[in-house]
Amino acid sequence: MAAPTKRLLSIEEAQQLVLGRAERLALESVPVGEAAGRVLGEPGKAAVDLPPFDSSAMDGFALRAGDTPGRLPVSVRIAAGRPAPRALEPGEAMGIATGGVVPAGADAVIPLEYVGDRDNTIEIGDPVSPGANIRPAGGDVRRGEVVVGAGTRLGAPQVAALAAAGVAEVLTARRPRAAVLATGSELRAPGEQLEPGQIYEANGLLLAAQLETAGAEVERLSSVADDEEAHREALGRGLSADLLVTSGGVSVGPHDLVRKVAAGLGVEEVFWGVAVKPGKPISFGTLGHRLVFGLPGNPVSVLVGFELFVRPAVLALQGAAEPLPRFEQGRLAGALVPNPGRDELVRARVSSDGEGALLEPLPGRESHMIARAAAADALVLVRRGTEELAAGGPVEFLRI
Ligand code: AMP
Ligand code: MG
Repeated sequence: MAAPTKRLLSIEEAQQLVLGRAERLALESVPVGEAAGRVLGEPGKAAVDLPPFDSSAMDGFALRAGDTPGRLPVSVRIAAGRPAPRALEPGEAMGIATGGVVPAGADAVIPLEYVGDRDNTIEIGDPVSPGANIRPAGGDVRRGEVVVGAGTRLGAPQVAALAAAGVAEVLTARRPRAAVLATGSELRAPGEQLEPGQIYEANGLLLAAQLETAGAEVERLSSVADDEEAHREALGRGLSADLLVTSGGVSVGPHDLVRKVAAGLGVEEVFWGVAVKPGKPISFGTLGHRLVFGLPGNPVSVLVGFELFVRPAVLALQGAAEPLPRFEQGRLAGALVPNPGRDELVRARVSSDGEGALLEPLPGRESHMIARAAAADALVLVRRGTEELAAGGPVEFLRI
């Protein structure tokens, strides 16, 4: 535990210190088909009008609205993918498929189901309005307009929008390379036999999975025992990455070696200790542009510390416009007692009850209880204080 006299940073202060040191990595060009999960480095602008031409919204007949109602001969049928062979003459209709090019001379499309079609003549009972069922060129976006803003992380809709607007390559920060190191002599890999005093290693897997969802390329280093030489070797390797995240060994015990060995390797500590529960003894430092996070060993501390500090850093390294966690508003399903000195992230299940999100705090708030965290899909932010938070009251929460 940190010395009681030490002033701990608030979550927000610590986040600002991290973001102040997370510089965007170099940009590279990536095919749009491989860009999901990447952050746009410059605005993605439409290379073409979208739609590129006036196109039909329905399977039906292109015609002149002024020719309706009436009977019109059909001698041309237009498939999607090829324009009509000629302009539409007054007094005729052309068959057209959804997405087909509306021929010059036509100003409306009547859907198939509204006409009688016999012997290549159609019968239209009611007048058709000009423009009906025509998707005008550029109606979605015009060439040169921004489709997706710089700093946006590309999800499925953004990738589809860019592709549709003719963007073949996007400029994006290269993916941050992250190294993960779990420390602790007690750690054994899944599948190994546990001897007395040993536990299964969980943090390395947790961090690797979290880092990947944040867009990093992950290298997992083998866990190290609480031994200075082993730490030096492993931390030295990890420091070749853009971001090194360790777990364990950042408290004040005699076996907590991470900060000392990192300092010996040239890492400048920016902070150690945040007024957060779980995860107080988190350390953060830099070596040149490289970022180094030392998370405490309890797995829930890792889970929380990652979401509050490491994920924002990984997103900022990619140039994300909004790297900080997005807390949402909800209501508590059960009462909670805050911690007097530290803001707490309480595992919870989120549901919705018609009036918005409802947060059910899960039993077991201790930081080693990772098995209970498996049931959680949200972290409720309980600000430090002395007053119990009543059931039904408003809270902020983060989806995980
Ligand atoms: P430490 O921060 O090293 O003092 O570790 C705090 C607690 O977390 C101890 O009970 C450790 O055994 C446990 N712990 C440390 N590293 C891991 C890990 N990688 N996976 C699971 N538990 C861990
Ligand atoms: Mg340890």
